[in-house]
Amino acid sequence: MLPSNSFSLSTIGIIHSCYKEKFGIPKQPGLIDRATARLELLPPYNRLDTLEGLDDFSHIWIQFIFHACIKENWKAKIRPPRLGGKEKLGVFATRATHRPNPIGLSVVKIGRIYQEGKRIFIDLYGADLLDGTPVLDIKPYLPYADSITDARGGFAPKPTQTKPVQFSEQAKNQCEHYQSLHNREITSLIKQIIEQDPRPAYLSNQVDREHGIKLWDVNIKWCARSDHFEILRIEYE
Ligand code: SAH
Repeated sequence: MLPSNSFSLSTIGIIHSCYKEKFGIPKQPGLIDRATARLELLPPYNRLDTLEGLDDFSHIWIQFIFHACIKENWKAKIRPPRLGGKEKLGVFATRATHRPNPIGLSVVKIGRIYQEGKRIFIDLYGADLLDGTPVLDIKPYLPYADSITDARGGFAPKPTQTKPVQFSEQAKNQCEHYQSLHNREITSLIKQIIEQDPRPAYLSNQVDREHGIKLWDVNIKWCARSDHFEILRIEYE
């Protein structure tokens, strides 16, 4: 008998993250260590016993649904942003979000595992996940099996820093104020995000054009200058 070719999966958790929209989220986890997020287990999995033993691990694999692009169709060949949007590669040779099954995979550093009322949370560091991302599974990262030191990285070597980031006087004051109100390290988070140059390839040669990135409840306004990125101001949503 042929195995079934369609399966039904249930969401075991949900991500609460500083990233409120896709634009600005790093291309992979671990690039922006100041990004904070929490994974919340959903009923009937909201039990601490499902996580017993996990606190002996530093990292987990998270399998999740690219829920913000489910409605868009997949294509056999896509243009990875790392190739400047010029060359096409097979979808299965990339980490593109538009796939036949919209499942993502991220390895993420974990912090505290704790309960608040009936809610169970795991603190995450450096996640590349949109707020509200549905989680399908969690597995511990096993260094002896999962870390391959002589692996080849294809078209995607480790990203390098692009241009330095400078804050306007207004943005600097606003960030300090935000930081003191919310105890969130927004200045270093913004610096790390913008250093990665999140602009799509077709805009990467343009300067002085204003962009916005939504983090928590604020919109960060910034632009590229010829030799640096400038953070202009932050606006409340
Ligand atoms: N590490 C994952 C994700 C790589 S793609 C993997 O390899 O499968 C990274 C991009 O996923 C980010 O730039 C972000 O914009 C996008 N993303 C993150 N969470 C998402 C979600 N819930 N829905 C759609 N796109 C998402």
